[in-house]
Amino acid sequence: MTYYLPENLPSGPILSSRRPTINEFFLSSYTMNIYLGCEMGCPYCDGWVYSSRPLNETVRVPLNLPQLLAEELQTVSRGDLIAITALSDPYQPAEQSYRITRQVLQVLADAGQPCLILTKGLGVLEDIPLLQRINEQSLAIVMTTLLTMDRYAAERLESKSPAPALRLEMLTALKRAGIPVGVAMVPVIPYVNDTNTASRALFRACAEVGVDFVIWDYLHVPNERHRMRVDEMLIRVAAYPSNFYRDVFQGQPLPTANYRAERDAELLVRCDGFGLDPRVPHRLFAGRLDPKNEAALLLKHTAFRDTINGRAHMAALHRDLAERVYGGEVRAEQLRLSPLWLTLKQVLTMEE
Ligand code: SF4
Repeated sequence: MTYYLPENLPSGPILSSRRPTINEFFLSSYTMNIYLGCEMGCPYCDGWVYSSRPLNETVRVPLNLPQLLAEELQTVSRGDLIAITALSDPYQPAEQSYRITRQVLQVLADAGQPCLILTKGLGVLEDIPLLQRINEQSLAIVMTTLLTMDRYAAERLESKSPAPALRLEMLTALKRAGIPVGVAMVPVIPYVNDTNTASRALFRACAEVGVDFVIWDYLHVPNERHRMRVDEMLIRVAAYPSNFYRDVFQGQPLPTANYRAERDAELLVRCDGFGLDPRVPHRLFAGRLDPKNEAALLLKHTAFRDTINGRAHMAALHRDLAERVYGGEVRAEQLRLSPLWLTLKQVLTMEE
């Protein structure tokens, strides 16, 4: 049983501080949470790590958050995207009663502020008109988390979330309404959804419904409490001996660099095979964000492929240029070192 705690927040920032580096998964310069706590309570969620109480025990409902956000947006560039992705689902069941997310979208639509929403909640479909309004002015993207197409495993990994097939239907409806959609295979859980068979089934399903892009990232186990929760989850899915995880994590919060490099390479091949982009494709955000953000994202997305394809030097160059351009400190002669120069020059309207 989850308790809802409606409250008025004290005045103060609603958004995270502006990110020192743009987020290449979500295109974001800012992140925001709407509800605090998440009724879905998925055991792998990072929200558990940052919450002193069980993530799904109470959900704090910030009644005045939309008003505070409207004030704060006066100081935010319209070229910076806000990601509503952090540590709680904006369309969890509380939204049906309180509609705070809907009010937030109204504020973003009034301001023409670009946003990206990550949700498993089918309630997002009720807000399509607001998302369309934002997308006409700037950019609105909706992503859903999808770990597996195996219903048996999904029920054990995230029993309170809509079934994978329903989430894909949700994306289909959004896409039909003109909203760009993506899938977050987050987290990749070793021995659960990291096999070739599992990723092939997932990516095939994404391609069949015309998802615009897929991203992935790895299970994060930063402390012992979270490790025990993950162990319980693994026992529910199948009998995985915990020493499997000793090999893959080697006592670190993330799987080893070798494991991640191998999976990245496999998943990229799979993505390419199904014609899926492994990051938000440029066509979706071209001309819709601050040109510096657009250029930084192009550089980071290219660096991602450079890394996987063994072009370490180019990857380092592109990541360095991305930081410089996002910080407004780049010169044309530095950008000319990149094969992306002609595109970057156009995006940033630079002289030769
Ligand atoms: S729905 Fe999302 S935010 Fe909520 S517990 Fe699950 S993973 Fe975390």
